[in-house]
Amino acid sequence: MTAAPQPEILAAFEAAKGFMPVDEGLALYAAAVEAGRLGLPLLEVGTYCGRSTILLADAARRAGVTALTVDHHRGSEEQQPGWEYHDPQTVDPEIGLMDTLPAFRRTLHKAGLEEHVVALVGRSPQIAALWNTPLALVFVDGGHTDEHAGADYAGWAPHVAPGGLLVIHDVFPDPEDEFTGQAPYRVYLRALESGEFTEIAVTGSLRVLRRTPPTAPAGGTPAPDDRASAPEGETPAPEDRAPAPEGQTPAPEDRAPAPEGQTPAPGGRASAPRPGTPAPGSAASAAARR
Ligand code: SAH
Ligand code: MG
Repeated sequence: MTAAPQPEILAAFEAAKGFMPVDEGLALYAAAVEAGRLGLPLLEVGTYCGRSTILLADAARRAGVTALTVDHHRGSEEQQPGWEYHDPQTVDPEIGLMDTLPAFRRTLHKAGLEEHVVALVGRSPQIAALWNTPLALVFVDGGHTDEHAGADYAGWAPHVAPGGLLVIHDVFPDPEDEFTGQAPYRVYLRALESGEFTEIAVTGSLRVLRRTPPTAPAGGTPAPDDRASAPEGETPAPEDRAPAPEGQTPAPEDRAPAPEGQTPAPGGRASAPRPGTPAPGSAASAAARR
């Protein structure tokens, strides 16, 4: 049996603004709790207003690790004014650009989960380029163009620790099902074709892949069963999680991933996302699906 969130966490998730249905949220939560046993941080690309972050934060709390969430908070192409997924409440009236950071902070505060989350505000590839910490889980739910989804995969998948999970949202193999393009589906195929990841769960448009353990030398120990999951009702405590790979056994209280001494290049190339070319006229009722 997979881990499920407490009713108050589920209620906070359901009340939060965002783009994830409950069944996919529950699958994300189960994956995050399982991955948290590695004792390494969980990282999300695509915070928006914190809906999915609530689940990663609670899973991180249970595991005694930190949840990291990456977003420039200026919205994806299809969330800009005039596009299908736009919410006028997310616009900063003073500068006229989207800013989902205040809503995100309120969401996490109300859920009582602020202390388990580090928000990384900036462009995903720019942050990934500075990254140097192995991750138990990477959840890709950022931009949906090939440029952005591809860069998220290239930038973050290499940081998934052995045995860790790569979770991809908005994977629509059938073009009929897609609302904002099939770039996440192409990223999913790329992950499988790399031979580095094995699919372990499918829920709606959510795909959970595990970093394939290194092949054992001939006669060596067989690779563990990829579908193994936590026993029923188990709440992995920080002290009973699997040892972290590469001899890393950070203590729960000082696990904040501080990439010390790394200074971003001056004159960062951050810029507001430009309106893209999502297919207009898709069903508005699809909003909760992404
Ligand atoms: N996980 C959220 C939904 C995320 S929507 C939920 O559960 O509701 C996608 C988010 O990705 C948007 O907030 C957008 O600002 C962000 N985003 C898109 N491209 C990005 C990029 N290149 N770098 C950082 N954030 C990006
Ligand atoms: Mg999504």
